[in-house]
Amino acid sequence: MKRFNIITIFPELIESFTKTGFIKRAILKKLITINYINLRNYSEDKNLKVDDKAYGGGPGMVLQYQPIQKAISSLSNKGRVIYLSPQGKTLTQSKLHALSNYDDLTLLCGRYEGIDERIFNNFIDEEISIGDYVISGGEVPAMVLLEGIIRVLPGTVDDSESIKRDSFQNGLLDYPHYTRPDVIDGKQTPDVLISGNHQEIEKWRKKNSLGTTWKKRPELLKNVKLSKEDDKLLKEYIAEHEGNEN
Ligand code: SAH
Repeated sequence: MKRFNIITIFPELIESFTKTGFIKRAILKKLITINYINLRNYSEDKNLKVDDKAYGGGPGMVLQYQPIQKAISSLSNKGRVIYLSPQGKTLTQSKLHALSNYDDLTLLCGRYEGIDERIFNNFIDEEISIGDYVISGGEVPAMVLLEGIIRVLPGTVDDSESIKRDSFQNGLLDYPHYTRPDVIDGKQTPDVLISGNHQEIEKWRKKNSLGTTWKKRPELLKNVKLSKEDDKLLKEYIAEHEGNEN
């Protein structure tokens, strides 16, 4: 079983998130366990304060060293300790896979201006960002990490085959999807998808996965080694779509 320790001043926020959908099921199936650590329980202040003014002045509060140090030290299985931070490396699908291999992960959620710098040296293994923008707390980023990691764990998603086809799994974006009805507002579903010819469907999907990547995120193709067949499919797609908005 994989254990997530989450250190936060708002455990209830993350708790409610894990009470729905496949995360709830992963907990019931005992594939994962989530241990909430309320930072305020480690406050030495009579009002349970965990933040204080920044040295040097200026606006904003800083999460203090002492409660964080005590919270992390209280854990018997802290595993890899991750601080969610806009200054970290941006999260990727391959990072989610790498993190899914740890038995224990500890996620530290910041608030206010962040945490006292001195926590970094001894207590944080890695900083992870969910993108080049700033939000108010590490809880939403921790939920992103949680959902992303749990999703790639074996047995957590009913149709694990669909995960393998997701965008970024093989360095490419996913192919387009269609569902019933086959014609709507005069817009057709591509014939091949209704043909029942599985080989042709697979070919169409590969071609459109390559093509979608070329159209929306061309820079991703630089990191993918294309087979001769893939290269041919992509060239066909480009020939069919170049100079055409759709
Ligand atoms: N002053 C800090 C930002 C503090 S935002 C700075 O400029 O670097 C408050 C908290 O929200 C952070 O401690 C962090 O835990 C979280 N946070 C904000 N944006 C984030 C992002 N893009 N990725 C991960 N965590 C983020």
